[in-house]
Amino acid sequence: MSARCPRCRQGALFSGLLDVNPECPSCGLDLRAHDAGDGPAIFVIFIVGALSVIGALSLEALFEPPYWLHFLIWPIVVIGLTLALLRPLKAKFVDIQYRRRSTAL
Ligand SMILES: [Zn+2]
Repeated sequence: MSARCPRCRQGALFSGLLDVNPECPSCGLDLRAHDAGDGPAIFVIFIVGALSVIGALSLEALFEPPYWLHFLIWPIVVIGLTLALLRPLKAKFVDIQYRRRSTAL
């Protein structure tokens, strides 16, 4: 799941943290039509939500830490996982859209 152009695999896919370049700087592929929409965010919500709930319940059941420790740990875990997963998933969605549209034509 690289953040590279789905056609040439050379040009940068993103111009910012999550902004898709309007066109590939390497091969000129028009990337404006490949909008991932809310798809990556939904997957991140499901994955991070499940992992954080399972983690919080497991931590509580095993060690019974004070609640302030939960308030310290879980926001960091949730924000970290979200930032780690959102960009690669968005790149994968753009890649899948490019592949499916390219074969359909
Ligand atoms: Zn390219």
